[in-house]
Amino acid sequence: MSGQNGKEGLVSQIPCVEVIVVGDEILSGTVIDTNSALIAEKLLDVGLEVRRMTAIGDAPEGIRQELRAAAGRSQLVIVTGGLGPTEDDRTAQAAAEAFGRPLVLDTVSLERIRAFFQRLGFEMNPSNEKQAYLPRGARAVPNPLGTAPGFAVEEAGCLLIFLPGVPRELERMMEESVLPMVRERFGDVHVVRSLTLKIFGLTESRMGEEVAGALEGIPGVSLASLPRYPENRLRVTARAPSEEEAQRLLDEAERRLRRRVGSWIYGKGEDELESVVVRLLTERGRTLATAESCTGGLIAHRLTDVSGCSRVLKQGLVVYSVESKRECLGVPDSLLKEPGPVSREVAGWMADRVRKLAGADLGLASTGVAGPTGGTEKTPVGTVFLGLADDHKNWSLHVKLRGGRTNVKKLAAAVALDWLRRYLLGEDPEAYNTPWRR
Ligand code: ATP
Ligand code: MG
Repeated sequence: MSGQNGKEGLVSQIPCVEVIVVGDEILSGTVIDTNSALIAEKLLDVGLEVRRMTAIGDAPEGIRQELRAAAGRSQLVIVTGGLGPTEDDRTAQAAAEAFGRPLVLDTVSLERIRAFFQRLGFEMNPSNEKQAYLPRGARAVPNPLGTAPGFAVEEAGCLLIFLPGVPRELERMMEESVLPMVRERFGDVHVVRSLTLKIFGLTESRMGEEVAGALEGIPGVSLASLPRYPENRLRVTARAPSEEEAQRLLDEAERRLRRRVGSWIYGKGEDELESVVVRLLTERGRTLATAESCTGGLIAHRLTDVSGCSRVLKQGLVVYSVESKRECLGVPDSLLKEPGPVSREVAGWMADRVRKLAGADLGLASTGVAGPTGGTEKTPVGTVFLGLADDHKNWSLHVKLRGGRTNVKKLAAAVALDWLRRYLLGEDPEAYNTPWRR
């Protein structure tokens, strides 16, 4: 049965969920709204999908209007921001006015705030007492990390939950209080599970073409392509009545996607190129040394982000100047003169020499022109040579990269890691296939 606003008909089905973030600082661009994303992600864990996100300023009239409109069209509204002790924190007051529920002192919250200050050994400010006033009939949502309690009110068949704006506090409260509360209220509507496949070496458009229609006929599964320069991700989301069924759908989707773009998938979930490389080196019992020019240490930086890297990375040199290439790596003057420091020959030399210097099994090197200056006709901006060496041989890879200094560095480091990864998987470095190869 459908009521006037169409809400009743939905209650037993999929609830309409929205998020409202409050704060002038969001509208002015001073603070980037990450709270909405966090809330949406957490709600997905209990099968609730957010339909609408709104950002509004601190003006009470605007907050009142928005709250009434939201309560009228949704079954669950999460509001964040403006619960603090200061003058510009007006959300609780606006909620009180919007729903005609005067603020009343919540003694339990007041005690919690007091205890919070006691734990820190601070005197409680009178302004913090303001935070213990909640709209009449509201249920307090405890805030273990801060002073502003959240609260929940039921209004015209809609559950509105108000949370502070501080991301850390918000996250903890979502997990500890909000999710149990919405679960109890809405039940597990359905299970939502997702899977992210990490892809390197395919442009977004090409990837789109390759996977078009791949998941046709799998019920309850959707596919999103998420570019994350210089990589791409495929995110599969499955909705099903049970955990097992959702997992079965994801497995089927993964099989089909791998059939289409499997050779570009370097990992999934939390995997990164560097973590996969460290894992492969570890598994194969091989060590690495790096000599970086145009990537300025970025390759070593990424590798050292991975815990356990010390077992496989023996040394990482940044040899940015021509002199350092000569002095640290013994690159001969003849090579530095012709073909020059940015060349196939020098990249191969660097990789081989750093490997020997460090006593490592493998060497990886970069030399190139990141720009915006320094380009020549022979080596224009974006020209990068990578070097890879093992105890038998060394290889060079010539790539042409675009997109400004930072992007050239990022992409060069990523190509280097991917090249090494494929070598470790047994592929021939000579045959490395990447859209940037020259
Ligand atoms: P407080 O007790 O700190 O005043 P509050 O509930 O009043 O909490 P705000 O004043 O709106 O929250 O925000 C506190 C801080 O949290 C802001 O300075 C900002 O850095 C951060 N913050 C607020 N809203 C968001 C948001 N939507 N996304 C990310 N960070 C946010
Ligand atoms: Mg505040």
